[in-house]
Amino acid sequence: MSYPPIRLYLDGAFVEGRSSTRVQVRNPADGTLLAEYAGASAADLQDALAAAERGFAIWSRMLALERFRILTRATALIRERAPAIARVLTLEQGKPLAEALREAQLAADIIDFLAEEGKRLAARGVPPRLPNVVSQTVARVPVGPVAAFTPWNFPANLPARKLGGALAAGCSVIIKPDEQVAATCLEMARALHDAGLPKGVLGVVMGHPPEISSTLIASPVIAKVSFTGSVPVGKQLGELAARHMKRYTAELGGHAPVIVCADADIAAAVKLGVQAKFRNAGQVCASPVRFLVQRSRLDEFREAFVAGAKAMVLGSGLDEGTQVGPLIHERRCSQMQVLVDDALEHGAQLLCGGNRLDRPGWFYPPTVIEGAPPEAQLQQVEPFGPIALLDAFDTLDEAIARANALPYGLAAYGFTKDLASAHRLAQELQAGMVGINHFGVSQPETPFGGIKDSGYGHESGLEGLLGCTEVKLVSVALS
Ligand code: NAD
Repeated sequence: MSYPPIRLYLDGAFVEGRSSTRVQVRNPADGTLLAEYAGASAADLQDALAAAERGFAIWSRMLALERFRILTRATALIRERAPAIARVLTLEQGKPLAEALREAQLAADIIDFLAEEGKRLAARGVPPRLPNVVSQTVARVPVGPVAAFTPWNFPANLPARKLGGALAAGCSVIIKPDEQVAATCLEMARALHDAGLPKGVLGVVMGHPPEISSTLIASPVIAKVSFTGSVPVGKQLGELAARHMKRYTAELGGHAPVIVCADADIAAAVKLGVQAKFRNAGQVCASPVRFLVQRSRLDEFREAFVAGAKAMVLGSGLDEGTQVGPLIHERRCSQMQVLVDDALEHGAQLLCGGNRLDRPGWFYPPTVIEGAPPEAQLQQVEPFGPIALLDAFDTLDEAIARANALPYGLAAYGFTKDLASAHRLAQELQAGMVGINHFGVSQPETPFGGIKDSGYGHESGLEGLLGCTEVKLVSVALS
């Protein structure tokens, strides 16, 4: 499949947006124009809301088993079409084709897990305390139509988490994917459409993000808001959701620490660390950022990590052998340069990378920086790019205190062979997800979510499904 024309998906049909605002999609690997499309107008958004209300009435009353059948028909189609979806994903987002293919397949796994759990949402019976009450049931019911907002770094997985949770729970959903990567989300919508999803159950709208979020969140149709993206926008949408008394889930940024103890398997920590750091060019919210290595092993770690970073092959995601693709936008490249220059001005040492590549597209090389002081922006601001920070620590107390010093709390990692140190890291690292001796904390079966400024609530896993439900008590007495 070449890059498809981009439409909105409204009330079961793929239609042109009616806004006069046009959106351009550029290939981040070379800057060429992939598509230009019209965004959603105010009337399109009202149509999406009316359709979501009708869709909810149908979908929430359907048997869970029937919903499961439609969702798993859709995931079979996603798997069948994964090579074509992956190509679209790489064209618009830039990541290597092999990563894009894995992402499309994982998106199907995410929805499958949620669809399975959707069949098992059993009610709980509570023994009555009043003599004439014959049953007290605590049921999990769909929360209502959901407004979902996803960013550009995982164009298939992030919609899969939001659509999978909402649809498996019996909710209708209007999703606004990031405008740059909407084609991947639309391919997932097409799979759901082809699998027989009833009209109105899903809407896909793009355009002017603040207009879309303020319209959807304020609408009485919408019961729940789910956002993935930056902390400032997440807080803004949280305020809006609170004003309108909407349920809210937020998956925001991180600045993940990695504590490498002297007793750790350094070769494994380096190998896994390089892979995890530069996956998707570092544009991952759970990406490791601050590598804190116990002083006695720092030289060994540094040498191997920098060699690993330098060996990464940069290029277009469509080229065979590419390990690191471009960044998503020109402005992300400029932001990397600002952060690196600021760290160097604060006395940090550049070990590799550090300068934007002089070639078409938005390429920034794997970059390793040592000794950036706490005042440097990089020690506080999420780089969301291919930059690793390296520092020494002396005691575990000190490392844990430094790891926890930021307002973020998404993912944190530790490498050690010592059971007591592993236990301390698991207990004391302030994060929604802690990985000991590996980085694989994001799986379809496990909840994904952060604490502190990194978010509120969870997606994926059983928790992702429960987040799209409401608790309802029904107490029945004999009359
Ligand atoms: P950004 O905050 O401008 O945009 C991030 C996403 O939020 C985009 O998809 C955008 O369309 C959407 N958005 C922005 N304003 C919105 C609004 N008012 N209503 C609804 N949606 C809105 O940031 P950016 O420059 O594209 O990316 C940089 C930052 O974004 C990074 O520093 C990183 O923290 C964050 N980010 C986080 C994730 C994540 O998975 N947590 C993903 C992508 C970006």
